[in-house]
Amino acid sequence: MNPLRSVLLAASQSPRLRRQATRHRFVRRAVSRFMPGETLDAAIQAAGALRAGGIATILTHLGENVSDPAEAEAVVAHYHEVLEGIRRTALDAEVSVKLTQVGLDLDRDLACDHLARIAGRARDVGNRVWIDMEATPYADRTLEVFRRLRATYTNVGLCLQTYLRRTEADLESLLPLGASIRLVKGAYREPRELVFARKADVDESFFRLSVRLLGEEARRAGARLVVGTHDTRLIGRIADHVATRGLAKDACEYALLYGIQRREQARLAREGFRVRVLISYGTHWFPWYMRRLAERPANLLFMGRSLLSR
Ligand SMILES: Cc1cc2nc3c(=O)[nH]c(=O)nc-3n(C[C@H](O)[C@H](O)[C@H](O)COP(=O)(O)OP(=O)(O)OC[C@H]3O[C@@H](n4cnc5c(N)ncnc54)[C@H](O)[C@@H]3O)c2cc1C
Repeated sequence: MNPLRSVLLAASQSPRLRRQATRHRFVRRAVSRFMPGETLDAAIQAAGALRAGGIATILTHLGENVSDPAEAEAVVAHYHEVLEGIRRTALDAEVSVKLTQVGLDLDRDLACDHLARIAGRARDVGNRVWIDMEATPYADRTLEVFRRLRATYTNVGLCLQTYLRRTEADLESLLPLGASIRLVKGAYREPRELVFARKADVDESFFRLSVRLLGEEARRAGARLVVGTHDTRLIGRIADHVATRGLAKDACEYALLYGIQRREQARLAREGFRVRVLISYGTHWFPWYMRRLAERPANLLFMGRSLLSR
């Protein structure tokens, strides 16, 4: 792993750095490049603007590793509010949740119940809930919770990370469920033996798993692919595969993060692909922002510029 990436990912877990960074206005200004604001209203407004350009959205209230049961309960209440906001504004928006945000560190069953309440509400209003994939210590429990929920709620989808060697087997085990899967490369610092060392192998794994999800057998089972990447080469390769196989353009959906590759987002929408932008908002942005810096350390330059323009 690139040493700077490794340092930034280590920093993402430092409570001391979090306390210091969140106090500085120039850091907050740099963060605003990836986040329309800290409130649900700001997120809904941004989703409305994207909708005008033919882009659907996913809303995520930032937060992870919640250790207080009352806080986890409050997250459930907040997502009910989000779903109500989406219904009221008739947005084409889904929600994406981290299991550690609804109490996975406290108790797996509690997190499962909390997510079931969000999924149940989403189902009532005809919406979909995604489960984010976090670092590998949570992977087995996340898959277990997904399988349990999926038995009742078909509106729940799961994110899988293509940098992990285990993901191919995980995907195979999920295919018979006809699950909705969002593939991403993966954003965490992981032990070397668990991940592909070369970026080319992570990309190849992404393509191979996409092809699997677009295959006859997976599609017959009801599987659905969401391509979660900003990698234009990979997006092009998958779109070409869809065309070559004679599948409809909307056989899969492309998902990107708010503020990243805006031109590519607009191009995809213009050319008739299904595109969705994930909008994160909230006050707990520090670890999430550090992961965005780690993905592209050149983003540190924006933070530097933000400091100079104080
Ligand atoms: C919709 C969505 C949901 C996600 N959910 C999860 C999840 O649940 N769990 C998880 O581990 N990860 C998640 N991620 C993050 C993902 O794992 C990657 O870390 C992230 O997408 C960067 O990798 P990439 O696929 O864009 O490819 P890369 O090869 O890293 O990047 C390709 C190009 O995209 C641009 N780019 C990428 N990242 C940035 C950035 N931060 N700032 C500016 N430009 C950038 C650059 O031009 C870069 O050259 C999600 C990503 C998306 C898009």
